[in-house]
Amino acid sequence: MRVLLVEDEPDLGAAIKRTLTQHKYLVDWVIDGDEAWAYLENSWTQYTLAIFDWMLPKSSGLELCKRLRKFNNPLPVLMLTAKDSMEDKVAGLDAGADDYLVKPFGMAELLARLRALQRRSPQFKPQKLTVGNLSLDYGNNLVVSQNLQEIILTNKEFQLLEYFMKHPHQIITTEQIRNQLWEVNAEPVSNVVAAQIRLLRRKLANVGCDHVIETLHGLGYRFNVN
Ligand code: CA
Repeated sequence: MRVLLVEDEPDLGAAIKRTLTQHKYLVDWVIDGDEAWAYLENSWTQYTLAIFDWMLPKSSGLELCKRLRKFNNPLPVLMLTAKDSMEDKVAGLDAGADDYLVKPFGMAELLARLRALQRRSPQFKPQKLTVGNLSLDYGNNLVVSQNLQEIILTNKEFQLLEYFMKHPHQIITTEQIRNQLWEVNAEPVSNVVAAQIRLLRRKLANVGCDHVIETLHGLGYRFNVN
């Protein structure tokens, strides 16, 4: 699940990003409203959720929200703010925010609000994704094979396998994987994708399923359902 976080306070932004990353979200963090809009305009469909701070340099979180809804964009938005008067809350919700969290807040509350937003969102994820002989268990970071052997995956392995399972029989390039699973500002390490796939295959080999990810030399990879 990819989240766009727009927060200009460095400590808070870093803390939110760290927490969400630990909980399997992939976070693109930007610090002003104009940069956020550039991301939203070009690639909002990549995101499951957005978190906007209200007070931001350039465009405010409120303006971002209004602009999204003006274009009938349904991306769920959680607004963060130091404001807590009833009028402010109404203004935020009127602008199209789905929920509202007043600073300071605890990370457990933030996570709970995000889960609630996901449940209401059309992009809500099920507890399990099953393709062929493999079943991904979102609650436990597990993949379960046909003979019910369980493999514990790291977050990145989980995201990678999920991406493959959602695109069976398709040729997927290294570039596509990198764009989808690594943050936009991540260092471009040329063989990070290949290294990650090697690790994932090694785990899948333990249950005899390493062949599901095929390497197509010069083209990319393909997930084969069996
Ligand atoms: Ca701010």
